[in-house]
Amino acid sequence: MATISPTTTKPNREEELANIMNRAELDVRMVTALCGDRPLNAREQDTLNRLLAERGDGLYADMLYTLTHRAFPIKQARHIWDEITQHRKNVNAKLGRDIGIGVAAHDYLTNASGLMKGVTIIEETKMASLANVATRDGLTGLFDQTSFKHRLKEELERQMRYGSPISLVMFDIDHFKKVNDTYGHAEGDRVLRQVADVLRQQVRLMDTAARYGGEEFAIILPEVEQQAAFIFAERLRQNVENFFKAEEQPFPITISVGVRTAHQDEPTTAEALIVSTDEQLYAAKRGGRNRVCQP
Ligand code: GH3
Ligand code: MG
Ligand code: MG
Repeated sequence: MATISPTTTKPNREEELANIMNRAELDVRMVTALCGDRPLNAREQDTLNRLLAERGDGLYADMLYTLTHRAFPIKQARHIWDEITQHRKNVNAKLGRDIGIGVAAHDYLTNASGLMKGVTIIEETKMASLANVATRDGLTGLFDQTSFKHRLKEELERQMRYGSPISLVMFDIDHFKKVNDTYGHAEGDRVLRQVADVLRQQVRLMDTAARYGGEEFAIILPEVEQQAAFIFAERLRQNVENFFKAEEQPFPITISVGVRTAHQDEPTTAEALIVSTDEQLYAAKRGGRNRVCQP
């Protein structure tokens, strides 16, 4: 991660944009750069096209997420984004100055559209402090159980209010005790970190990946229907299996996965969703392990 010293000179916008574009993740600075009034140069446009090709309309949901720290339905995100940029133009013309994308998004979402009451625009500095408040697991760097539960409650309430689906995926490493018993605790820890890395590769910006307990993990997938969550889980199961096969280590590492999706018409609580997802996980164990179960 880049460190910022007080003596660092501010790079010009073009360099800034190029730097930001090369990063894997969107942040507030990238979103702000993408909203710049000057046209993008050929290379920047190329990068943007690549991002759009990779993420499709998910990019708009990512940008909205970056500004508000809330998951918006992917199918509406592009429209909302266009409305915000139009709103910014209108307000700018009236005021004779540029209000910026953050203010435009806030004003559009809370006042002009009434779409999202009480949505907060997160500033970069505030985002950084929020990220620190969300406690992480020391071994894997994923969110810990406390952060995960807090996040699930928050997301669930929001998704229930706006009628969007939300999926929960939980998995547990198969016969992990054997790894510890045969190869030692340090080797077990290394496997846990690698499993977390495989998981990190697969989640979107708006998803929450957590270490739920010892060798049990949980992922919150906002805006994701049951079928897509199952596909996600099955891909994760394969990715873990294949990762350790490629490592050519003497023992296989596989996971058993449970999937549950919550909908507005069947209100549920975070606790109940965790319990019912765990039931699916244990069905996967009973069914022979290295598999995904859903209701
Ligand atoms: P199953 O397929 O039924 O899940 O079998 P299992 O052996 O994985 O299940 P069990 O719950 O019996 O064992 C989990 C083991 O995970 C026990 C514990 O020693 C180990 N474990 C939990 N946390 C850690 C950790 O932080 N590091 C290491 N190395 N091992 C851990
Ligand atoms: Mg376990
Ligand atoms: Mg286990």
